[in-house]
Amino acid sequence: MQRSTSCPSRGRYAPSPSGPLHLGNLRTALLAWLFARSGGGSFVLRLEDLDRARVRPGASEGIVRDLRWLGIDWDEGPDVGGPSGPYQQSDRLPLYRDHLNRLLELGLAYPCYCSRADGAIAASAPNGPLKESAGYTGACRDPELRASRRRSHPNREPVFRFAVTSGDQDVVDAVAGHRRFGLKSGQDDFVIWRAGGVPAYQLAVVVDDALMGIGQVIRGDDLLDSTPRQMALYLAFGYQAPNWAHVPIVRDAAGKRMAKRSSDEGLDGARARGCRTEEVVGALAASIGLVPDGTVCAARELLNEFNSARLVPQPGL
Ligand code: GLU
Repeated sequence: MQRSTSCPSRGRYAPSPSGPLHLGNLRTALLAWLFARSGGGSFVLRLEDLDRARVRPGASEGIVRDLRWLGIDWDEGPDVGGPSGPYQQSDRLPLYRDHLNRLLELGLAYPCYCSRADGAIAASAPNGPLKESAGYTGACRDPELRASRRRSHPNREPVFRFAVTSGDQDVVDAVAGHRRFGLKSGQDDFVIWRAGGVPAYQLAVVVDDALMGIGQVIRGDDLLDSTPRQMALYLAFGYQAPNWAHVPIVRDAAGKRMAKRSSDEGLDGARARGCRTEEVVGALAASIGLVPDGTVCAARELLNEFNSARLVPQPGL
């Protein structure tokens, strides 16, 4: 498992092909590209298509088309190939399997037979940091309890959890600042492998960013609370963690995260209204404070002026 040479400004955009990118996704992609290119770094496009139930036919092609229409380019990706491919997660399963095995050998992962029905995971897990593991009792971390759960559910296929070490995990983020997350062994042991042989996001993203030599991860701030878990995985594998920047995501009028459901909120809608690339790029950049409202410009024109310290969400995208 060879890592590509990591460079601090080598960046990536890693969308899930669950539908057309909406304007919020496009703004995050533009920012990830600006961070990388303004620092002279290379840029990678990776498709995170492990959740097969959410993958929509044609979405990957649409994502490639829309990013290019916006003026975003990449050196490596599913359509152009490259030395650290494949660039589509469904083609990388053996790499994730190897990494799961490595954690099992190190005693840092274990099978878990618990379900909500037997009370080992709260029926309604509280929202907040570490949502994915919230409400888990840590039962299967104990070999005896695990063996008894397994006996009571002989047909249940286990998930695999990462065995968290209790302690504070500090995340230093170029946009969100310094955050401290407390992790507790057992209850915060998060899922790294789902039943059905599917690697979970937390494992796949770390394996990919590490093996692809990504030096900076720029993504929406809805993923900030995944970062301490990913840092724990970097440490477990002995990989160097990238620099992080979690940028504000676009929320709808009710303050909710936009979903990739309606193409009206994406470029098809903008193009149908007759918008040109430069108008969309200008509106995206203005919506985060990079340029004054009403600016019309190409993505590459933002490169010279790009200053991440200026990122402030503006009302009205
Ligand atoms: N695939 C994730 C998404 O589309 C992004 C993951 C990441 O950037 O770490 O929301």
